[in-house]
Amino acid sequence: MRFNKIKTFYTPLQACESNADKNYSKSPLKPKKLIQFFKDNELIKYFDIHADFSALTKQDLLTAHTVEYVDNFLEGKGNCESNGLKWSKEFSAAVLMNNASLYTAIRNSVVHPHEISFSPSSGFHHARPNRGSAFCTFSGQVISSLKIWEEFKMAGCYLDLDGHFGNSIEDTRSFAPDLEKAIPVGFNFNPRLYDAEYFGEVENFLVNILKPALISGQIHYVVWCHGADSHKDDQLGDQCSTEWWMKCADYFWGWVREMDARLGRNLPVSCALFGGYRDDDFDSVLSLHTGDLMSCMKYCLKIDANYQVVVKPR
Ligand SMILES: [Zn+2]
Repeated sequence: MRFNKIKTFYTPLQACESNADKNYSKSPLKPKKLIQFFKDNELIKYFDIHADFSALTKQDLLTAHTVEYVDNFLEGKGNCESNGLKWSKEFSAAVLMNNASLYTAIRNSVVHPHEISFSPSSGFHHARPNRGSAFCTFSGQVISSLKIWEEFKMAGCYLDLDGHFGNSIEDTRSFAPDLEKAIPVGFNFNPRLYDAEYFGEVENFLVNILKPALISGQIHYVVWCHGADSHKDDQLGDQCSTEWWMKCADYFWGWVREMDARLGRNLPVSCALFGGYRDDDFDSVLSLHTGDLMSCMKYCLKIDANYQVVVKPR
């Protein structure tokens, strides 16, 4: 039996208010805005929120990044704004908490697989060993999976449905040789097509590649990252209408339930936010993320919150 709420690892320290007006990306505020959106829509009851996790250490960051870049970012010098975001002490602390939220959610999914683990976080998948890039500072996925590999010898798969290719995993393979075991080659999945064909790619990967890898024991846990910037109306995306974006969510969460039955145990699953911008109507981004999580409630946990996604045409 699965726990009937979404176990959420969130602290207000993940959100950064400073420079919010100067940054193109609203991602530094997204975790806080999303939790408020749940409250405003009376959906907060579906989330079991935990704030008691600690920030990543410098040693954790060094598993995926050079000393020079880590020092630059922590101290606000050199290429500390290579992520395209204004640096501040508060932002630096928020980045560490966002990475910690992702790691804690993934770790919880392998330790307590009956709980769907959620990290309301983003800003990881374009980072490189020696710099940030495109609103991403540190490679949270890489750091998390290396830590999980070291502690449990378990390998993960990332379903990266953000509108942009998640390069951080591939770009870190030569820097961190253990990554080949922590996230095997072929398990950083990024669909590239449009609407029905995009959905077809997702379906094909889940059924023909990930399912056999889970059954054979090559992969032990799955991280679902349904970025809202793959949506056609996001100013940085063009791949999916609301219908196809939600079909991917509904299919994935139903597939998790099927995998539980096939494996005879709960599949360790965690999820995170990733991209989504919409400077004209940020609620559209929050509604898509909420739709994904309510799809989890409906198709995986079998509790129907009757939530309708609202995306304003741009
Ligand atoms: Zn993106």
